[in-house]
Amino acid sequence: MEIRVVRTKQPKVKPNDNELGFGQYFTDHMFVVDYKEGKGWYDARIVPYGPFEVEPSCMVFHYGQAIFEGMKAYLNKDGEAVAFRPFSNIKRLNRSAERLCIPQLDEELVWEGMKKLLELEKDWIPKTEGTSLYIRPFVIATDHHLGVRPSHTYKFFVILSPVGAYYKEGLQPVKIYVTDKYIRAAEGGVGFTKTAGNYAVSLYAAEEAKRKGYTQVLWLDAKENKYVEEVGTMNIFFKINGVLVTAPLDSGTILGGVTRDSVIELAKEMGYAVEERHLSIQEVYDAHEAGELEEVFGTGTAAVISPVGVLNWNDRIIEINEGRMGDVSQKLYDRITAIQYGKEEDKYGWIEKI
Ligand SMILES: *Cc1c(COP(=O)(O)O)cnc(C)c1O
Repeated sequence: MEIRVVRTKQPKVKPNDNELGFGQYFTDHMFVVDYKEGKGWYDARIVPYGPFEVEPSCMVFHYGQAIFEGMKAYLNKDGEAVAFRPFSNIKRLNRSAERLCIPQLDEELVWEGMKKLLELEKDWIPKTEGTSLYIRPFVIATDHHLGVRPSHTYKFFVILSPVGAYYKEGLQPVKIYVTDKYIRAAEGGVGFTKTAGNYAVSLYAAEEAKRKGYTQVLWLDAKENKYVEEVGTMNIFFKINGVLVTAPLDSGTILGGVTRDSVIELAKEMGYAVEERHLSIQEVYDAHEAGELEEVFGTGTAAVISPVGVLNWNDRIIEINEGRMGDVSQKLYDRITAIQYGKEEDKYGWIEKI
């Protein structure tokens, strides 16, 4: 499919790298493709970033048929623009699409459009160490209709946002609140997809945790309120007696992170045992009691590795590794970012040049 390009006549003034934050600024252009039942995906185009019109009856506002992805483009040490494992994200977008009754996207078209958009916006990739250009692909249902059914029309977008270094003062461990009062995802549901509703459902518990002084919520399984699942927008790993343990993906309640997958591969290669298994929150606390809970960290595109310094489960508060980042967490962070910024050879085929 031809991708037409309409360039902006009013390029924006770019923000300074030190005022970026996360998701506050958007580049000059966006990639858009439309879908109509019977016609398929059509009119792939790069156009100026900006508002578009839909009616108040637009289905996505009412029934939440919406999916998204999150990935990053970086300038490597030689000044080339690169993306980290973009096809893993594109494939995951299609897995989310299937579950939400959204038509499958053509993976090649998505990548071509993304690449073309990134080429056009290359000057928007910030240069300071730790910064990147966040890529947000998403699909929304656009029928103007109030009956509950899958939409017959959709829009696919890719928008770009320059984002700041996640850790301005080094990797600061976060405080995590373990909730057994609220649940995020149940078996048979949509926990494994990046769909809007999963985030709407998480806000109330996250706000409650914030009021108590915690950064994010650690979710337990919905059936028994017993097994650790994931954290906000991160997967979570526990290093117990030398072994890295993380929740398995087979229950369909956890988002299979690209960072999670990368960490598992690198950790195994570095000689650590990794177990994808059910781990009860009681076992985590018992390990702490026995002096065997060595490190806890979250993994996700935004922070890469986020060390956890404190856990609170029913007011039982434990401190991990004296509230400092652990050695393995640090090593994994260093390896992944070295591959991303081209300081370490990419023998995994994870880096795609733009
Ligand atoms: C996006 C996300 C993750 C992390 O996935 P990455 O591909 O590593 O960025 C983990 N959990 C949830 C709920 C997420 O939305």
